[in-house]
Amino acid sequence: MSPINLAIVGVGKIVRDQHLPSIAKNPDFNLIATASRNGTVDGVQSFTTIDAMLDAVPEIDAVSLCMPPQYRYEAAHKALSAGKHVFMEKPPGATLSEVHDLEALAAEKGLSLFASWHSRYAAAVEAAKSFLASTRIDSVHVVWKEDVRQWHPNQDWIWQAGGLGVFDPGINALSIVTHILPKAIFLTSATLEFPENRDAPIAADLHFKNADGVPARAEFDWRQTGKQSWDIFAETAAGQMVLAEGGSKLTVDGELKFSAPEEEYPALYRRFAEIVKAGQSDVDLAPLRHVADAFMLGKRKSVEAFHD
Ligand code: NAP
Repeated sequence: MSPINLAIVGVGKIVRDQHLPSIAKNPDFNLIATASRNGTVDGVQSFTTIDAMLDAVPEIDAVSLCMPPQYRYEAAHKALSAGKHVFMEKPPGATLSEVHDLEALAAEKGLSLFASWHSRYAAAVEAAKSFLASTRIDSVHVVWKEDVRQWHPNQDWIWQAGGLGVFDPGINALSIVTHILPKAIFLTSATLEFPENRDAPIAADLHFKNADGVPARAEFDWRQTGKQSWDIFAETAAGQMVLAEGGSKLTVDGELKFSAPEEEYPALYRRFAEIVKAGQSDVDLAPLRHVADAFMLGKRKSVEAFHD
């Protein structure tokens, strides 16, 4: 099969940090155009709107949508309607219903839709999944605490409705948890802390259980200075499992079981090529569903205003 002619929409931080190097290394993709109001990529023809790009470059086969989630549906709908396969950055949309709508459109058109969850491709995630499948799990505790000023400086969209606030990183933890636990969990209670001047939470404390009553807790906080935490702990019959550093390092009772260099975005593009070739979609909305449940069930607490 000849390479997939790819276009990127929304050229910003994650495109420069991860998408461009991963695409450049993957012979299955040929980056031929971008659409972004301000961003461009050296040596690639650029447009300021997706409509202009789709009109001018009919040989585009697929688009990667890397703008904030509040603007993803419209672009995805246009791309699928124009017959293009679609890769969506996480979170795949601003609502569950709009992503279901895109899934139906992709199926109707015979196109591939990829709701990507990059953290699921962190190095030690599969090893953690195998470990948990082999033992009894007594409890799970997610600690995902980072400094928003360091990781999301001046990103206004992230604080607006639909930007998800602390769930923007927190959904990465949920994407791992929903992949590695052998049984589904569901939310039983939550507290969301909203800065008094913002429409999205700065912290969340979520309590889940599964059908057997096994508890899981997730603490997300954007006010962490100093050491950053992206860790998942599980108390099990075989000892304490720690999936640390965003899913890249696995230990059991302190003994290192698996660790490897980060390869998340190269793996995402390998997966996208695979589903395009196979004529499939890959859309798992479990992480976004848990976030929606938190907004539905969570108590709201107003906290000190946040200024960048
Ligand atoms: P970003 O740099 O703030 O935004 C990406 C680009 O989207 C911007 O450069 C902008 O390009 C375009 N954009 C911004 N506001 C827009 C609007 N109102 N309408 C249309 N386009 C708009 O954000 P990012 O950090 O790259 O994140 C983008 C997506 O990737 C998010 O869903 C995020 O969760 C996900 N992600 C981010 C990271 C990370 O570390 N940053 C990691 C993994 C995933 P133009 O101004 O040129 O249009």
